[in-house]
Amino acid sequence: MSLPDPGGTVVITGIGELVTCDGSGDAGLGLRTGAAVVVEDGRIAWIGDSAAAPDADRRVDLEGRAVSPGFVDSHSHLVFDGDRSAEFAARMTGERYDGGGIGVSVAATRAASDDRLRELVGQRVREMRDQGTTTVEIKSGYGLTVEDEARSLSIASEFTTETTFLGAHVVPPEARGERAAYLDLVTGPMLEACAPYAKWADVFCEPNSPHAFTEDESRAVLAAAREAGLGLRVHGNQLGHGPGVQLAVELGAASVDHCTYLSDADIDALVGSAATTVATLLPGVEFSTRSPYPDARKLLDAGVSIALATDCNPGTCYSSSMPFVIALAVREMGMTPGEAVWAATAGSAKALRRNDIGRVAVGGPADLAVLDAPSHLHLAYRAGVPIARAVSETRGVPSSS
Ligand SMILES: [Zn+2]
Repeated sequence: MSLPDPGGTVVITGIGELVTCDGSGDAGLGLRTGAAVVVEDGRIAWIGDSAAAPDADRRVDLEGRAVSPGFVDSHSHLVFDGDRSAEFAARMTGERYDGGGIGVSVAATRAASDDRLRELVGQRVREMRDQGTTTVEIKSGYGLTVEDEARSLSIASEFTTETTFLGAHVVPPEARGERAAYLDLVTGPMLEACAPYAKWADVFCEPNSPHAFTEDESRAVLAAAREAGLGLRVHGNQLGHGPGVQLAVELGAASVDHCTYLSDADIDALVGSAATTVATLLPGVEFSTRSPYPDARKLLDAGVSIALATDCNPGTCYSSSMPFVIALAVREMGMTPGEAVWAATAGSAKALRRNDIGRVAVGGPADLAVLDAPSHLHLAYRAGVPIARAVSETRGVPSSS
């Protein structure tokens, strides 16, 4: 199904279940049955009972399929070249992940032409769209020179407005032993060159990895980014207990991502800052690194704001599938199907400080996912089956690239 050219209107009928995420009912999903939706100029113009639907230029009958907000993938690393499948295979036979393989992607990414990188990002964005994602955040972090980080973000910005500067992904191989000089580069000339293409800045705050950044280093990176006008995000508490969550809360970051190892004090901090800082869980990483999953049930019961995202990247989770993430969240992290769908739409929109996406509302963009199934329950129930697809031309995920 495709929506009409700008200027036309389409009425979508035969919606078996409409997930609006309006905050009402089970998990805030705002489920409606027998509903129709009118789309005009790429925006939702009307939602109501199918029998009362107004006329439009075109009618589309979904024959009982469910419709949900398009998924919001608020954490991805799509700008890279190179193949690390052998590293995955080695890990599956017992090798531990410590962030070191990122250097392999850095070398391949630096060697790739602009056109090659653009083509790779386009393929990955289309792959996401084919699985129901309508907004994607894309980080840099495999360039790690001024020029390569700026070009990564420039290319990312051709596909989404949600771009994130991640010069502090790891200390690149050529700068080992010169951490202070590399940090000066990241917080100085690299930030300056990247800021025009970036909405956010992120840091791999992970004292448990020799390749990533300590608390003080991370604070310096984030403070400089904030000074440059960027919003803040943090990779934290992935490989072990650490300062990432507390730092994110202290600085008012929009999101702290991974949250695999949390102390009670970390959870308390996240509860206290639930209005500003979202805990973004990335269970595809635990799956792909054979690590213990975060306890989402405990976080939800405590009152933490939760988002779900893929972390699509060549090292620790080369999956672009939000339905896969939803299935893992339900099967492995104790979330209900409704909570997982909420966290993959409205929850991850909140992690991007967006309230126009991740829901189906009059006046909002027609960023919809259609499911070849009667309800959202099937996203987790039919794990691995490609039942979801995005249907609209939207910000974040162009249909052709
Ligand atoms: Zn990541």
